[in-house]
Amino acid sequence: MKPETNDWETIIGLEVHAQLSTESKIFCGCSTRFGDEPNSNTCPVCLGLPGALPVLNRRAVELGMRAALALGLHINERSIFARKNYFYPDLPKGYQISQYDQPFSANGTLEIMTAARDEGGHAHDWKPMTIQITRLHLEEDAGKNVHEGLPDVDRFSYIDLNRAGTPLAEIVTEPDFRSSWQAYDYVNHVRRALHWVGASEADMEKGNLRCEANVSVRRKGDTTFGTKVELKNLNSVRFMQKAIEFEVERHIKTLEEGGRLVQETRLWDERLNETRAMRSKEEAHDYRYFPEPDLPPLVVTKEFVEDVRASLPELPGPRAKRFAETYGLSYADAGQLTSDRSLADYYEAAVEASANARATANWIRSELIRELENAGITADESPIPASELGALVRIIDEGEISGKQGKDVLVEMFASGKSATAIVEERGLVQVSDTGEIDRVIDEVIAANSNQLEQYRSGKEALFGFFVGQVMKASKGKANPKVVNERLREKLKG
Ligand code: ADP
Ligand code: MG
Ligand code: ZN
Repeated sequence: MKPETNDWETIIGLEVHAQLSTESKIFCGCSTRFGDEPNSNTCPVCLGLPGALPVLNRRAVELGMRAALALGLHINERSIFARKNYFYPDLPKGYQISQYDQPFSANGTLEIMTAARDEGGHAHDWKPMTIQITRLHLEEDAGKNVHEGLPDVDRFSYIDLNRAGTPLAEIVTEPDFRSSWQAYDYVNHVRRALHWVGASEADMEKGNLRCEANVSVRRKGDTTFGTKVELKNLNSVRFMQKAIEFEVERHIKTLEEGGRLVQETRLWDERLNETRAMRSKEEAHDYRYFPEPDLPPLVVTKEFVEDVRASLPELPGPRAKRFAETYGLSYADAGQLTSDRSLADYYEAAVEASANARATANWIRSELIRELENAGITADESPIPASELGALVRIIDEGEISGKQGKDVLVEMFASGKSATAIVEERGLVQVSDTGEIDRVIDEVIAANSNQLEQYRSGKEALFGFFVGQVMKASKGKANPKVVNERLREKLKG
């Protein structure tokens, strides 16, 4: 039985870990390159050998700052690194260097766009929503355990410390989300924003963005929060959304049946589509945080913060708003065109060449994006330069070729890299709009189909389409359909 969800309110807070795109690690000079020979990018510092001392990577601070500013956080001029103590094989020091009570940045106010979803998961009714971000702090990543063989049978475990010491930004929100889709829209916003400002690749598939969701429910009208559960192993934004949905239903069902929830960490099982318990609060670590004695406080000057702020590009949220307002696009379309900075740049450059913002948006959204996705490339790698896409939109606008021809031309431009005008010329595509020429073709068609003409004139109006088809065929598809329609109506009247 599906529980009565209407009486309940969902509460969600999110923790996102984003790998910052530095070339070297946060406290040593080892490379952060992915895919190298296991343990080849290591040194005494990231291996955790006794006596090795960490030195903070300035670039990690700068990228962390870009991320924090892109999400509307306040940068603390002074922050403290702290040791978070726990034992795990992929953490050779026995502690992770993180930040605790004096983080790098805090108190963010972020506006995101969020939508309702229908049964099929299609978004509608996009609306702005404000999220409070508690903090963004800097920390190092741990290594990776690699298992081989089946559990209990020929099982080997290996440790690869190439990832140990990679810089991370941990971003924690207040429990502000009220649905799994709001959480989904937020994580997508964060992904886009971090990638946009060059702070992180922010690609969940590559594991350089990871998220954890804290979920609880309460009866509508209650003012205190219910028992929360922490969800881990969410390998995509969609899995996160599904895991939250599953968990909310489990909570409501348990509570309606008079049961109780325990505060625990649960893992999403993507094959079984369910969460399962990993550890309870009692088993949770006491991290015994204390200030890292080997690193001085991190002090950033106001000038540094302002320099970084000034170097940021126009951010995705404001840019989408501007697209909607100045180009007359819907918020959903503006959101799609700003899903990636290179796409947004591409769009604006194409508009400059086409002088038709809406048509350009439509051609990019319905045709170009499909080609880019099929080729697995981004807009800045498009074989069709933005100015050429604009030129194509313009010749369609001017009636030189039809929209239908335009679609074929675009596909060929994408495949060959040739310009629109070159293809139009080569294929002899130029659309005929000259009424004299079209009239001649129409006269021929009418003369050759006197039967149909008689039927049409005696009321069988459905034959109009037949005549259009014949004229288009006789003109080899070159006649301007609009002119054909007008002239045919005229001539068929007699
Ligand atoms: P913990 O000490 O268990 O890590 P925190 O207070 O640090 O808990 O919060 C961790 C995350 O959980 C934050 O994103 C916060 O917004 C969220 N959170 C806290 N309480 C709740 C709750 N009752 N329901 C859902 N999320 C919550
Ligand atoms: Mg926490
Ligand atoms: Zn190292």
